[in-house]
Amino acid sequence: MTVRPHHTDGLTLISLLKEYISGYKLLFHMDDYTSGSDSDYTKYWIDWFLGTKGNEYFCEVDEEYILDRFNLTGLNTEVQYYSQALDLITDNLDENLDEEMRDIVEKSARHLYGLIHARFIITTHGLTKMLEKFKKCDFGRCPRVLCHNHPLLPVALSDVPYSKSVKLFCCRCEDIYNPKSSRHASIDGAYFGCSFPHMLFQVYPQLVPPKSTDRYVPRIFGFKLHDVAKQHRYQDMIREESHARIMAGIEGLPTTAAQGSSSGQQNHKNRAADGTGVATESGAMADVN
Ligand SMILES: [Zn+2]
Repeated sequence: MTVRPHHTDGLTLISLLKEYISGYKLLFHMDDYTSGSDSDYTKYWIDWFLGTKGNEYFCEVDEEYILDRFNLTGLNTEVQYYSQALDLITDNLDENLDEEMRDIVEKSARHLYGLIHARFIITTHGLTKMLEKFKKCDFGRCPRVLCHNHPLLPVALSDVPYSKSVKLFCCRCEDIYNPKSSRHASIDGAYFGCSFPHMLFQVYPQLVPPKSTDRYVPRIFGFKLHDVAKQHRYQDMIREESHARIMAGIEGLPTTAAQGSSSGQQNHKNRAADGTGVATESGAMADVN
């Protein structure tokens, strides 16, 4: 049995509250009705939704925004039981709905709220509200060591609902990450949209951190890996050229190693001329065994 905490009628609220206190251990899905404090009980659906564990990324959409039907254009075709879902969000749902129907409407209401949320957070007021959450690090911090715990922002990889879950964007390394918690990782990305963080930084450019030059450099025993690899490639090239030249000298055939770049050809001629058979360019490893 489930009880929805959106009723505005006083008597109903009291009776629900009694029921809640006496039987919540058996009857309630805790996650559905409580926040981290385990004691919150709200009569407004949005308050309840925002207080539910896992919904920390969402901000409160202004009631005026929801009530202005212009803002919801097109959503009626995207959400099942749209008008009941909207009534539930605005605490006007008919209380005589049966349990099963109420659960369906509840699900639709969450989806509808998410879609409204995606539109709201790119409005001026929505951006302000999300900015506050960003400053409080409500979306977590960048896991990259060299980003020094920079706060993250939610972002979608697709604006189409039910296609991709929400990701977290770091404006310092300009990369995206999966949310740590599975509750957050399962939130639909369409409830935030692809544009949101970038819109925020357009409006608040002062929040964009200076480009970091910090880069991790892989090393083995203190040597940079890429330099070692480059040296190895150079040594291999010299070895192959020498081998080809020796073989050419033995067989009296033209060399094939000099068919590469013009500089390669030049090197080959120079070395053939001085007769040393050893690469002597500055910085080269003279290893031609
Ligand atoms: Zn980062």
